[in-house]
Amino acid sequence: SFTADPFDVVVVGGGSGGYATALRAAQLGLEVALIEKGELGGTCLHQGCIPTKALLHVAEVADQAREGAAIGVRGTVDGIDMAAVRGFREATVGRLHKGLQGLVGGARRITRVAGEGRLVDGRTVEVGGVRYTGANLVLATGSVARTLPGVEIGGRVLTSAEALELDEVPGRVVIIGGSVIGVEFASLWRSFGAEVTVVEAAARLVPAEDPAISQQLGRAFRRRRIAVRTGVSVTAVEQREDGAAVVLGNGEKLEADHVLVAVGRAPFTDGLGLAEAGIDTDQGWVRTDRSLATGVPGVYAVGDLVRGPQLAHRGFAHGIFVAERIAGLDPEPVDDLGVPRVTYGDPEIVSVGLTEPQAVEEFGAAETAEYDLGGNGRSQILRAAGMVKLVRRPGGAIVGVHMIGARLGEQSGEAALIVKAGLTPEYLSGLLHAHPTQNEALGEAALALAGKPLHG
Ligand code: FAD
Repeated sequence: SFTADPFDVVVVGGGSGGYATALRAAQLGLEVALIEKGELGGTCLHQGCIPTKALLHVAEVADQAREGAAIGVRGTVDGIDMAAVRGFREATVGRLHKGLQGLVGGARRITRVAGEGRLVDGRTVEVGGVRYTGANLVLATGSVARTLPGVEIGGRVLTSAEALELDEVPGRVVIIGGSVIGVEFASLWRSFGAEVTVVEAAARLVPAEDPAISQQLGRAFRRRRIAVRTGVSVTAVEQREDGAAVVLGNGEKLEADHVLVAVGRAPFTDGLGLAEAGIDTDQGWVRTDRSLATGVPGVYAVGDLVRGPQLAHRGFAHGIFVAERIAGLDPEPVDDLGVPRVTYGDPEIVSVGLTEPQAVEEFGAAETAEYDLGGNGRSQILRAAGMVKLVRRPGGAIVGVHMIGARLGEQSGEAALIVKAGLTPEYLSGLLHAHPTQNEALGEAALALAGKPLHG
């Protein structure tokens, strides 16, 4: 095989984690090769964050149009034109993809290698018979949808990747899994007009979130007539000619036109050659230290390959961190606790840091305050329900911010700042929040937690 000139950094995988590594490393003057077998941008751009949010925007516009009648806007919604929706989604992804290709291929002079990379050793990656060597290797091959034992994907049984490509609005859909991806699809398909049932094995929806958030979400879904079955396990899915049936632990069968399996994502390392390179894994995840270094000198892993919140912005942060470390700077490692998590849709959930039960476990006790958006002027204008909950270490800093309501994703930055900076409710209650915004709810919750509720 042919060996290319050595690079400072060889990155395998061009998703959020991989391309961020490559861009930052090149910016720091390093020679970078970026190997991608599919499209630059990876899951987030092509099958995740962006296309789902494009669909959720369509859902929101449809809901607002329907709601118009109640507040004086005349008009009717006759349906969703899925061909036009596809056009919108593809054009949105296309523009961002083009921009990214321009960045990678442009001034930063990153060598883009098309093909599947396989590790030969801890310094060498082979792609289609050509060997690329790097003083450093960064693994960024991401994740893929999991399924359940006895549940085969195909036909009318979909993962999120196939669900995005549906050219029809499903009539009846059963979603297996009530965490972030299941909840987002439940919200958007309901807005599109589908009959939706969510089946969750845990006792509540979004079980990783604070219990108060799960309770609010359950209420919101009931209002939206999304059926929710919690504490129920799925034992099988039977394929039908024109649909599928989800078989529950109690023998009950839920018939559907489509079934979405949204039970989490597994690290993807098929064919990567981790064992050959001597790289350790833990249940599939690449084992790293806090600095994202594997046990093999010069080899790092970033993004969904590393156990923790599987989110694009965490991948970006990992990439920037690793590039700076390789360049000899002294960056601050990425702390998973400070990563903001958003579950998009109607309603939208934002959380950063510890839930109340987690804080109690860590500190022996926790102080909390909840502020109901029923008292917030902007939420009332938007006719949206929800709440904000703050969790503090007894007498100390705020360690958890939890919000649920309409379009609250945009508040994730302040939520992250509160936790990362270790702000106290006393400090936060003195920070001015503009009136009337939903953002004020953070200030109100802080006032309550500081013992001086204003409107609460
Ligand atoms: P990926 O984006 O998966 O990229 C890995 C890349 O590596 C892929 O392009 C793949 O083709 C390539 N690759 C794999 N193996 C090889 C190989 N051997 N050689 C060459 N190339 C290879 N996150 C958010 O933050 N916000 C959201 O709103 C959000 N929504 C989501 C919605 C859905 C439906 C899904 C599925 C995910 C969503 N995510 C969201 C998660 C987000 O997409 C991931 O966290 C992110 O893409 C992880 O980036 P990554 O670089 O680790 O991996």
